[in-house]
Amino acid sequence: MSVVDRQEWDVVVVGAGGAGLRAAVEARERGARTAVICKSLFGKAHTVMAEGGIAAAMANANEHDNWQVHFRDTMRGGKFLNQWRMAELHAQEAPDRVWELETWGALFDRTKDGRISQRNFGGHEYPRLAHVGDRTGLELIRTLQQKIVALQQEDLRETGDYESRLKVFQECTVTRILKDGSRVSGVFAYDRETGRFFVLEAPAVVVATGGIGKSFKVTSNSWEYTGDGHALALLAGAPLLNMEFVQFHPTGMVWPPSVKGILVTESVRGDGGVLRNSDGKRFMFDYVPDVFKEKYAESEEEGDRWYEDPDHNRRPPELLPRDEVARAINSEVKAGRGSPHGGVFLDVSTRMPAERIKRRLPSMYHQFKELADVDITAEAMEVGPTCHYVMGGIAVESDTAAARGVPGLFAAGEVAGGMHGSNRLGGNSLSDLLVFGRRAGLHAAQYAAGAGARPPVDEAAIQAAEAEALRPFSADAAENPYTLHQELQQAMNDLVGIIRREGEMEQALERLANLRVRAERAGVEGHRQFNPGWHLALDLRNMLLVSECVARAALERTESRGGHTREDHPTMERVWRNVNLLCRLADSVDGGAIDLVRETTDPIRPDLLALFEKEELVKYLAEEELYE
Ligand code: FAD
Repeated sequence: MSVVDRQEWDVVVVGAGGAGLRAAVEARERGARTAVICKSLFGKAHTVMAEGGIAAAMANANEHDNWQVHFRDTMRGGKFLNQWRMAELHAQEAPDRVWELETWGALFDRTKDGRISQRNFGGHEYPRLAHVGDRTGLELIRTLQQKIVALQQEDLRETGDYESRLKVFQECTVTRILKDGSRVSGVFAYDRETGRFFVLEAPAVVVATGGIGKSFKVTSNSWEYTGDGHALALLAGAPLLNMEFVQFHPTGMVWPPSVKGILVTESVRGDGGVLRNSDGKRFMFDYVPDVFKEKYAESEEEGDRWYEDPDHNRRPPELLPRDEVARAINSEVKAGRGSPHGGVFLDVSTRMPAERIKRRLPSMYHQFKELADVDITAEAMEVGPTCHYVMGGIAVESDTAAARGVPGLFAAGEVAGGMHGSNRLGGNSLSDLLVFGRRAGLHAAQYAAGAGARPPVDEAAIQAAEAEALRPFSADAAENPYTLHQELQQAMNDLVGIIRREGEMEQALERLANLRVRAERAGVEGHRQFNPGWHLALDLRNMLLVSECVARAALERTESRGGHTREDHPTMERVWRNVNLLCRLADSVDGGAIDLVRETTDPIRPDLLALFEKEELVKYLAEEELYE
């Protein structure tokens, strides 16, 4: 019999970023006793790094904006592979979620007449991003944290205990979702400081663990992004959707090497920053794809006029969706027209006076001054693509955020798939977290209330989870987890990165299979008290599973779409428009750990299709869809 501590809750939320905290608030407000568990300190999740803003069609900066336009932009950005019902709910509900944040104390930047200010971002037809300078994520988390504390104070007054109905377990890692038959019964976790194991029993679990960027060498993502939630769901029997779609943000820092990959917010381009190559040419005008030709300026003059008069001019191509800009930068560098350190130049200094740049982009100003000794108010930045966001994720029901096939499991935020199709528009993640975080919390609470008797937690499953977590301390564990991690990152960067080729992805799968075998023997010295090597040894299982999903799906999809570019299949193919790729854990690992199946997507509802011109739909939809 194991001596692992156990506690009973109604809903357990794994992750305390924007999605997890919004889910927890909702579940608690719906009457569920809710536990939140996170790897980092409460208030330190990856979401705090979000800079540019929250996309929501509030029409504060342009009265023509509305949810239908936001929906259209999101579908175009995702190249029509989005789970359209999610894109619809997202566009409809985002404004309410922003106003709600304001009533909870968020202090947004204002327009001259006192409304929430909204800024331009790539792929959004109108200025749409509600923001707090370039520190929006920090304010979002601060506000949700404050809301949680307010609810805990309410609980203290009513029950005499702050944590009676809402408790945060910080600096703790979940390594397994526990099940009773097919349904969820709780989670197995350890305290990162003490190494102590414990179990949170609950009929409903919301996974809100963010992304996978730490599997790639150059990334804007934080240390938490080891794909844990994706792997936890896979191991629990839920499928992952369209994992081939990984967003390479066009503008990460390229110099000095120690900061390579750190994000340069899209707000720089939204506020007028221009991209130039080493010849001084504003090259983005050469890279506007046919599907976007009518919407973007044809000359620098028109693009420049758009900043003052957006109703009578078209936007500059620097504001194309991220996948287009990232590929363009990659091509310029490859053609020998890059900057000295392998990027291109991004310049906002000629657009705005220094004081305005410091006010609108304070973090960027400090980031470049302190890390690269570059004064962005006077000179250009050097930037290049960096792994930023995963569009693929846990396959969920659009309305309820319920993970497919595992009763009691829910997912929201970056870990959930579907919402963004093949490419996410900037600002659409923070709104996604709020809209679907709330929905996940609501439906998890309702599910828990109606679940009947509490599902029992299987003692054997706890012991198996304990043994798995202790394996890195065993005598035959001789591989160094840091070496394995570096090899994994290099392989993913070189072989499944921004431009993909069949032979290279096959090579990647071979390397991943080899790393998986070696990772079984990843070992550490010492004991369980704060031991980062041990944490990494455990995270490797997750990164390897998720990387295999990315590589397998990328090999299977023989077209280029959004965040998936195949050199050997360079065009977007209409026959792939309605095809989802689902990854599941394989029954045996002989042919790899992952099985892949194709699925046809639900037809897009006619009233939503009617929001587009027929000429535009012809570019995306498969023949039979058009006919219907
Ligand atoms: P996170 O905020 O990452 O939270 C994940 C949580 O899960 C953390 O608390 C973590 O500790 C926890 N966790 C993970 N694994 C485990 C585990 N095994 N056990 C327990 N807990 C676990 N998007 C926008 O819309 N607008 C922007 O302006 C914007 N700017 C960005 C700037 C940067 C630099 C970056 C990197 C991203 C930006 N994004 C932006 C994207 C956006 O920030 C993320 O997609 C979003 O914050 C993800 O939120 P989340 O709630 O899903 O996950």
